[in-house]
Amino acid sequence: MSQQPNHEKVIIIGSGPSGYTAAIYAARAGLTPLMFAGILPGGQLMITTEVENYPGYPEGIMGPEMMEHFRKQAERFGTRIVYEMITACDLSSTPKKLTDGSGKVFYADTVIISTGADAKWLGLPSEQTFMNRGASACAVCDGFFFRGKEVAVVGAGDTAAEEATYLAKLCPTVHLLVRRDEMRASKFMQERVKNTPNIKIHWFTETVELMGGEKLEKIRVINTQTKIESEIPVSGFFVAIGHKPNTEIFKGQLDMDETGYLITKNGTTNTNIEGVFAAGDAQDKTYRQAVTAAGTGCMAALDAERWLAANGLH
Ligand code: NDP
Repeated sequence: MSQQPNHEKVIIIGSGPSGYTAAIYAARAGLTPLMFAGILPGGQLMITTEVENYPGYPEGIMGPEMMEHFRKQAERFGTRIVYEMITACDLSSTPKKLTDGSGKVFYADTVIISTGADAKWLGLPSEQTFMNRGASACAVCDGFFFRGKEVAVVGAGDTAAEEATYLAKLCPTVHLLVRRDEMRASKFMQERVKNTPNIKIHWFTETVELMGGEKLEKIRVINTQTKIESEIPVSGFFVAIGHKPNTEIFKGQLDMDETGYLITKNGTTNTNIEGVFAAGDAQDKTYRQAVTAAGTGCMAALDAERWLAANGLH
């Protein structure tokens, strides 16, 4: 147990599949971890509908229900959960110092970072105006609301390709807005997009504005080659231009790549600071799956346990 008030052996930041899995393993190792779950716990799966590719659920399961299972399993073995964000940290101190959103200070021998990633937005003011009234960053979550209606998808990576083909099953026309003259998506996904007759690709196209009244009615786009602006009537506008890892508070302390993904040492969850481990989407821009996040959460707990033992703290 902890040596003094607010001094923990393991603090886990974040409550997606990686955080909860780290918690299950750390708790079963007798480390009674303290998890900061954030104000909206559960991570990206809370805005997902059915998860069909997580092993062990042959019939599929709703994302929020699955995260509820993860939470119960973590708590069953003694994980304590605080529904606050960690807003500041000093990871170079011994023990490491973390401050939560209420200003309370905590100390930890080891920290597991599983803060995940969030969808990126274009940054247009009108995007905010139509948030939940036509603009979305998740076709699987919100596509249902646009059945039978025209929609647009922005992006040219695998996510955009996947969202466009998903929406093409529900909507008469999907306008795929690509800012260059080629797609970044895998060849297979590009073929699938091109072979779907109701996906219309608009090359060299950027969005200028979302327009409408109570709900989204149309978008204004520009062809970056001809500079000609035009309007496309759509009810749904799906932004699929990638994700941003939630690693802002670790800048200047932990090694990260140019897009903010934490760098872990080959085949481990070790960061550049001893006793600080990273798991899940905060350090993974390639796989980004619930099952891979859970796997690295397990690794982080084992790495933390071994580090504590090697340093006489377990
Ligand atoms: P990516 O970073 O791969 O692609 C982002 C796309 O958005 C790019 O085409 C980019 O254009 C475009 N974009 C970025 N900013 C803007 C902007 N402001 N306006 C218009 N377009 C913009 O992100 P993804 O989320 O698609 O994929 C992330 C990773 O996850 C990849 O490694 C991908 O392969 C993987 N993934 C795999 C899947 C699968 O295998 N089933 C499914 C989904 C993702 P540009 O090309 O011009 O830079």
